[in-house]
This record gives sequence, structure tokens and C-alpha cells, in this order.
Amino acid sequence: MDSRYEYDKLLERVWTGLPEKLKKHERFEIPAADTFIEGNTTIIRNFNEITTAMGRKPEHVLKFLSKELAAPANLETNRAIIQRKLKTNIVGDRLNEYAKEYVICHECGRPDTKTGELEGQKIIKCEACGGWWPMRRIK
Ligand SMILES: [Zn+2]
Repeated sequence: MDSRYEYDKLLERVWTGLPEKLKKHERFEIPAADTFIEGNTTIIRNFNEITTAMGRKPEHVLKFLSKELAAPANLETNRAIIQRKLKTNIVGDRLNEYAKEYVICHECGRPDTKTGELEGQKIIKCEACGGWWPMRRIK
């Protein structure tokens, strides 16, 4: 018997035994932005799905996008409307930047983070490693 094979089998069994929630976090991915242009605006069709996956408020993500893209933006049910024509990859890049700053742990790189407060200061805290960092204000 190949012991390496046995080990892989064991790992596989451990993996399948993990709760769904953990597995999901292990493969954290932001859904790709589904955008289209309408007149002079860009509409993100799956904005709610994206912000839910990140575990952040749509209003906060929108504020960030609006600032980064230098364009007014608003929410409409599940969609975000940005008052500027934008390519899908530009929107996707900004969303990744958002996740890097506000979702992915700056210490351990996992996405199990929550927003909170520490001595009146807004922070983001990691539930996986206990690390935290000040939440950067969007000006
Ligand atoms: Zn962490």
C-alpha cells in the first residue's frame, strides 16, 4: 500500500466531514460582477449577491465604489447604478480592492471578519485569528 495515497484519502475524509459553512469560507470568492451599460450609467445586476457574499452592507460597498470611480451611485432593489460608463473588469477590480481592505483579514488572509467598535473607533475583527485593524473611512 502506498502511504501517500492513504494520507490523501484521510485528508479527503476530513474535508468531507467539515461543516458546509467552513468549506464555503475556505473557498471565499466574490461572485463576478454582472454589469451592463444603459445610457450613461453602469448597472451591476447582482450587487446584492456580491455584498451578501462579502458580508457587508450594500450601502457601504456602494459608497466605496462611488468614491473610487468618482461617480455618483445609487441602489435600486438588488442592483447598483453608477452614473458612469464602466467596463466590467473595472468594476470587478474595485470590488476586489474593497474586499482586500474591508473583508479579507490583514493578518491571516481569511474572510471570517466582522465590523465592530473598539474605544469608539470602527474596526474590522477577524474571527479566525483574532486580529483586527481600524476600518478605513471612505471620505
Ligand atoms: Zn485573521
